[in-house]
Amino acid sequence: MKHPLGSPYVRDQLSLRTLPLNEKRLQPDGDYVLYWMQSTQRLEDNWALRLAIVEADRIGKPLLIHQGLDPSSEHASARFHTFIMQGAREIARRADRLGLTYRFALRRRRNDDRRVLDRLARRATIVVTDLFPTAGVAERSQRFADRVNCRVLAVDSVGVVPSASFYKEEYAARTIRPKLAKVMEHSLEPVDDRAPKRSFPTSLLASLGVDWLDIAGCDIEAEVARCEITHGVGAVSAAGGLTCARVRLHEFAADGLHDYAERRRHPSDTGGSSRLSAYLHHGMISPLEVVSAVRAAAPAAQSDAFLNEMLTWRELSLNFCLRNKDYASLAALPDWVQRSMRAHASDTREVTYTLDELERAATHDPIWNAGQRELLETGQMHNVVRMLWGKSVITWAPTYEEALQWLLYLNNKYGLDGRDPNSFAGIQWCFGKFDRPFASRPVWGTIRPMSLERAHAKYDVGDYLQRWGEQEMLV
Ligand SMILES: Cc1cc2nc3c(=O)[nH]c(=O)nc-3n(C[C@H](O)[C@H](O)[C@H](O)COP(=O)(O)OP(=O)(O)OC[C@H]3O[C@@H](n4cnc5c(N)ncnc54)[C@H](O)[C@@H]3O)c2cc1C
Repeated sequence: MKHPLGSPYVRDQLSLRTLPLNEKRLQPDGDYVLYWMQSTQRLEDNWALRLAIVEADRIGKPLLIHQGLDPSSEHASARFHTFIMQGAREIARRADRLGLTYRFALRRRRNDDRRVLDRLARRATIVVTDLFPTAGVAERSQRFADRVNCRVLAVDSVGVVPSASFYKEEYAARTIRPKLAKVMEHSLEPVDDRAPKRSFPTSLLASLGVDWLDIAGCDIEAEVARCEITHGVGAVSAAGGLTCARVRLHEFAADGLHDYAERRRHPSDTGGSSRLSAYLHHGMISPLEVVSAVRAAAPAAQSDAFLNEMLTWRELSLNFCLRNKDYASLAALPDWVQRSMRAHASDTREVTYTLDELERAATHDPIWNAGQRELLETGQMHNVVRMLWGKSVITWAPTYEEALQWLLYLNNKYGLDGRDPNSFAGIQWCFGKFDRPFASRPVWGTIRPMSLERAHAKYDVGDYLQRWGEQEMLV
């Protein structure tokens, strides 16, 4: 049975998932409830949207869903813009069918009007937005909440379990796993979503005077070309949106899932993992839908390894970025890593590269270069190669600090799943976060080492090197 929006279950989930961003009052003379969609770019299993609908019905107002895309966000590029707009096009079409009023605003140039959202907020009774610790969302939302006059609430739809269930920093997969297990079944209960009771009057929409983009009908490529963003990081073949995410999910559930623990280890195997991270990062598919589909497709013995990544590691990463303000700096690393880095800071780095050489995939190592090329070309990188890629930079950069900053830069500039809590947690894992000390070695210190040389024997990289090797790129 599905829980209706007004049920105690939904109320309890909402109270756990909602964070007030200011102490301002509801504006009773406002014309509507505004849901400012940021990181949860979907209409399904969206707790912020659910709260906005519950509030709209409670105070008898219509609901407006607004999403904006800005040229000034960090690493704004044709790659991200295209992916997000493809997703938005689908949202617009679905919204129409579901009786929801959704509008998309594209700020093309930095000099264009930057006050659309503030103007919308001025006529709102209350604003609901997404809770997300990275990609500038938390800071942007807080600045907005500080300057507008109405109440602003941020709602968490990132994980399967409300992140408030883990109010302290969890230090390892083994500490969060049992806590997750306790609340997971409860968090997976289905909700009966519906449209708000009042529809949005066309005259009210027209009176707002916003130059929204016809996202359902526009030429996305042409619109992106007009934006003042980085065009050197181009669109990729993977298209954004729920439909493509679902296709990947169902392909994976029918194939790679059944032997995931083994197949995910081999870079040559393109179907060995779900390749859903970009969709999950942009909130285009709900983690709940992924977990439910996987559990329906395979018995626990087959799905456990996948759920360990999808639930334990993903929710651990979210907890890290929410509860550790230093998530983007070496200060986030445990004491044993700090001691190790102090002891090995001046060890001789036998091979060093500049950031520019790394960015151009111009190192001596074919696997590393192949991974970097895959990232440049597709916005994705195979998980095992990504671990080797991250670990290697620790020994190739002049300092640990530069290694961290370079990895964040490359990962977040090119990866369609970049700027995610997983990005920071994954890169910090390379430096020893969530891990234990190993026998001491030069430069690595006691951080777990990983060897590119040994990777040839350990993993199937043959086809991967063929696909992303130098010759392929020169053609
Ligand atoms: C150096 C480095 C950088 C990384 N940067 C990112 C990043 O920018 N964005 C990102 O989403 N992940 C990142 N990861 C984690 C992981 O590599 C990717 O999530 C995974 O490879 C994505 O491929 P997939 O969707 O096929 O994953 P699958 O194996 O199919 O897993 C399903 C989902 O589970 C989650 N997941 C899988 N592995 C991990 C993990 N180790 N930690 C947390 N969540 C995980 C992801 O959301 C993923 O989409 C990074 C890891 C490392 C070592």
